[in-house]
Amino acid sequence: MRCKFCEKDAYIRLHYPKMLLCEEHFIAYFERKVERTIKKYKLLKPNERILVVVSGGKDSAVTAYVLKKLGYNVECLHINLGIGEYSQKSEEYARKQCKQMSIPLHIVRVRELLGKGVGEIKGSRPTCSICGITKRYIFNKFAYENGFDAIATGHNLDDEASFIFGNIMHWNTEYLGKQGPILPGEGKFVKKVKPLYELTEREVVAYALAVGIEYIIEECPFSRGATTLSYKQILNQMEEKSPGTKINFIKGFLRKKSLFEVELKEIPLNECKVCGMPTQGERCAFCRIWHLDEPVNFKI
Ligand code: AMP
Ligand code: ZN
Ligand code: ZN
Repeated sequence: MRCKFCEKDAYIRLHYPKMLLCEEHFIAYFERKVERTIKKYKLLKPNERILVVVSGGKDSAVTAYVLKKLGYNVECLHINLGIGEYSQKSEEYARKQCKQMSIPLHIVRVRELLGKGVGEIKGSRPTCSICGITKRYIFNKFAYENGFDAIATGHNLDDEASFIFGNIMHWNTEYLGKQGPILPGEGKFVKKVKPLYELTEREVVAYALAVGIEYIIEECPFSRGATTLSYKQILNQMEEKSPGTKINFIKGFLRKKSLFEVELKEIPLNECKVCGMPTQGERCAFCRIWHLDEPVNFKI
C-alpha cells in the first residue's frame, strides 16, 4: 500500500480525511495541522513565551516537540505530585523527553513545596479534585510570576470530545461555556491553549512513535479514567461507523457554544488574602486545601 503523495509504503491509514501516508508525509501532515489549529483559533503569536506543561505522557511531549519545531519559544514545566512510584516515573520521562528535545525543563515537587503528596490530603474533596486544583494553580502562578504569555497543555481531540460528551450526558452544562481550544488570559490568569485540539489520540501516538518520543503509559493510581474512558470508547465506535464524528462534534459544539456561555455567571473576584491570586471567597481553593498562611513562590 502506497502513500498518497509518494512511492513509499504507507505508515498509517487515516480515515478522515481518508488517505494513506508514509512516515514522512504523516509527520508533515501532523505538523501542518497543529500550525493550522494555531492560526485558525488564534492560539499564539510568533514571539510569545510559551510554557508547555508536561506530564511525562505522549500528548504534552508531542505538544512541546511540535511547538519547538514550528519555531516557538518554549520552556516546559513538570509537576511532581508526590504519588509514589508513579510520580517518580513521570518525572523521569519528563526529564528524558526535554533533554532529548533540548527544551529547558522546570520541575515543581509538591512534596518538597507543601510537605505532602496530593493523595495524602484528608478532607471532603476527592483526590482527583485536589490534584486538579493544585496543578491548575501551579501552572498559572508559575507562568504568571515568570512572565510567560501562554500555557500550552496536551489535550487532544479525544479528550475534548469525551469531555463535552460526558458533560452533556449529565447536563453539567455550566462547564461548557469556558471549554475550547483557547481560554484567554485576564488579570492574573495566563492564557491557556490546546495546540492538539483537532488531532486524535491515535494520530498523537503514531506521531510520537514516528519521531521517537518515549513516554509513560501507566495511568495515575487515583485515575478517574474509567468513565472518561467509556465515553472515549463510545465515540470511537461511532467514529468507526461514521468517520469524522469526533471532529464534527467539537466543531458543532464551538458553533453553538454561545448557548452555554449564557450560563456563565459574572462572579466578582477578590484577591486571596494569603497569596493574592484571584478567588471568589476570602482565600483561594489552593491556599485552603493546603492550609497555607504564607504564599508559595515560583519565581525563577
Ligand atoms: P490531565 O488533566 O491529566 O488529562 O492532563 C491534561 C494536561 O495537563 C496534560 O496534557 C498536560 O499538558 C498537563 N499535565 C497533566 N499532569 C501534569 C503534571 N504532573 N505536570 C505538568 N503538566 C501536567
Ligand atoms: Zn509519502
Ligand atoms: Zn491563595
